[in-house]
Amino acid sequence: MRRPIVAGNWKMHGSRGENARLIEEIAGGYPADSGADCIVCPPFVYLQEVGRMLRDTPIALGAQDTCAEAHGAFTGEVSAGMLKDVGCKYVLVGHSERRLIYRESDQLVARKFAAAHAKALIPVLCVGEQLSDREASRTEEVIARQLDVVLELCGPEVLGQGVVAYEPVWAIGTGRNATPQQAQEVHAFIRARIAARDARIAADTRILYGGSVKAGNAAELFGMPDVDGGLIGGASLKADEFLAILAAAG
Ligand code: PEP
Repeated sequence: MRRPIVAGNWKMHGSRGENARLIEEIAGGYPADSGADCIVCPPFVYLQEVGRMLRDTPIALGAQDTCAEAHGAFTGEVSAGMLKDVGCKYVLVGHSERRLIYRESDQLVARKFAAAHAKALIPVLCVGEQLSDREASRTEEVIARQLDVVLELCGPEVLGQGVVAYEPVWAIGTGRNATPQQAQEVHAFIRARIAARDARIAADTRILYGGSVKAGNAAELFGMPDVDGGLIGGASLKADEFLAILAAAG
């Protein structure tokens, strides 16, 4: 039985005051038994402070990215060990904004996944095709390439200790979500790709959908058999929306 996850990616939003208000509202409205794991991923500078606010709540702390290196002369970078040190449990790797804006390669993303796992963080591997890929029927080819690099470097055992998030790039921040059927097709493909290496691990691996999830479409998306919750951007900044999405996952 895979326990669903709802993870909020705050991206480069928030301030100390806004974060405090948001956490207060989410924690205040948090259901007694949500039936799902809940994560928030604030920007690096706020991790420690938000972590303190989460202390007596069931909400886990996640980071939005990590360096693939353990330490050293890497100005501006933050290592997985540092994230662990300030209380993170999860870390996103390979978000499409990192892949596209900062030109992160599949290989670098796989090394970040390995670095996070090595420090006992749970990496959330984001994969997803661009609109041009989908229109050229290359969705599965792109997803397979992004996934296989991690499977090759880390093996299915380590991948399965993390989480996969399918986020079609054309659905992120656009208000246009994948249909439940489109999401299910790709989630089933991801699970089958892992199953080709290890069926038991594939059956247990949690695969989240991300891309314009809102209170209004979450239940339908999460109702699909291979969708184990969501990675939420914009709607994670509004407590009522985020709580409704959490309820839909549970
Ligand atoms: C994201 O950034 O991971 C995301 C899914 O964003 P949004 O929910 O705003 O589409």
